[in-house]
Amino acid sequence: MERSTAILVVGAGIAGLSAALAFARAGFAVDLVERSSRLEAVGAGLQLSPNVLRVLAGLGLDLGRLNAVAARTVTLRSSSSGRVIATVPVVSSDGTAYLSLHRADLQRALLDAVAAEPRIALTLGSRCTGVTRDGTDLAVAFQNADGSLNSRRAGVVIAADGVGSALAASLGFPSAVASGDVAWRMTVDRPCSPQAGIEAWLGPKRHAVAYPIQSGQTTNLVLIGPRGDAADDLPGSATKAALLQRFRRWDRRLLGLIDAAGPAMAWPLSTIEPDRSARHLPGLMFIGDAAHAMLPYAAQGAAMAIEDGWTAAWAVGGATSPRDAAERYHAVRDNRLRRVRKRVAFHRRVYHLPAPLALARDTVLGFRSGESLARDLGWLYDWTPP
Ligand SMILES: Cc1cc2nc3c(=O)[nH]c(=O)nc-3n(C[C@H](O)[C@H](O)[C@H](O)COP(=O)(O)OP(=O)(O)OC[C@H]3O[C@@H](n4cnc5c(N)ncnc54)[C@H](O)[C@@H]3O)c2cc1C
Repeated sequence: MERSTAILVVGAGIAGLSAALAFARAGFAVDLVERSSRLEAVGAGLQLSPNVLRVLAGLGLDLGRLNAVAARTVTLRSSSSGRVIATVPVVSSDGTAYLSLHRADLQRALLDAVAAEPRIALTLGSRCTGVTRDGTDLAVAFQNADGSLNSRRAGVVIAADGVGSALAASLGFPSAVASGDVAWRMTVDRPCSPQAGIEAWLGPKRHAVAYPIQSGQTTNLVLIGPRGDAADDLPGSATKAALLQRFRRWDRRLLGLIDAAGPAMAWPLSTIEPDRSARHLPGLMFIGDAAHAMLPYAAQGAAMAIEDGWTAAWAVGGATSPRDAAERYHAVRDNRLRRVRKRVAFHRRVYHLPAPLALARDTVLGFRSGESLARDLGWLYDWTPP
């Protein structure tokens, strides 16, 4: 499409920031509009696999400045003893790294790149309320922090407004569905061994993940399990004593990490079925959590959001019309997203097996070599951006 096509990106989370950069790098002028008056990272840790690091490098991000730690392996441990069940290499076959980092460090790097990009105009404090067709363009309505209203026209609108997407709601798409699982997130603020890589404890019905962030000065810790009725399962702060009680039969080292951690936050997990194509509005494309919020069991939500943004810019850049752009986009993304979601569902089943089956799982995993387990994810990590 013509480089004079106006591009509007709604939402400046990881998806929106990287999409805006991808469009700008492809030669488009981008309007990036965010409802918050200040951009703050929610949550702490993030794993970035080789597939997404290739996109970030393509966007010109200096990965060396992310205070990230390079992981060589994911170590799967027994929940009760901490015994190593399997060690899975995660570095891609072309040598691309696998990083763990604080999400604020990624957001800051993306934001700095956006600020330095003259083709992007970022507006904060303006909340999108809906979208309609306006001739060949789209008209997107906003409410500003002071209550005033305004509308922006664009040929292409990228909906990157997260799991509670207002754009999706305005079109009548079903809202996110509670998965029934909850993540308790916390950090341990003391130096850790960067060599530890990513560690995951697989238990009956629950799992836990720990990895270094902030150049190894902090450990990110996430416990995940079924949501109950307790106050500690509601969104917001959770008491560590209750978590220690719930995980009391688990590996003593994991309990030590929980004990040493700062405040814990409960984060009920919701998902979105990825069927958000508005055929009567061909210039509108949903990306990231707004399109397909997924459970974090393959650590791919942000990765898919960033891949989406890159692919949307590629699809629009080489298309003859908005409809053609949407077709190019879905031709590249749909199968991949389906496969990732299938893998996430598989991890959920395997990680959360009940007691007798969990023991059988540990035995079976123990018989497989790390290399053969890594091959299961080759298709995911070896992806290269179009
Ligand atoms: C416990 C946990 C661990 C995770 N770990 C990983 C991991 O290791 N690796 C990984 O790749 N992913 C991981 N994820 C997933 C990842 O965090 C998300 O998929 C990703 O952050 C989604 O980014 P987004 O930009 O699509 O959405 P969001 O981060 O929700 O951003 C949406 C943006 O839109 C703005 N917005 C919302 N509504 C409006 C509106 N009406 N108008 C204007 N702006 C609006 C919001 O303020 C926000 O800035 C994890 C998730 C969880 C819960």
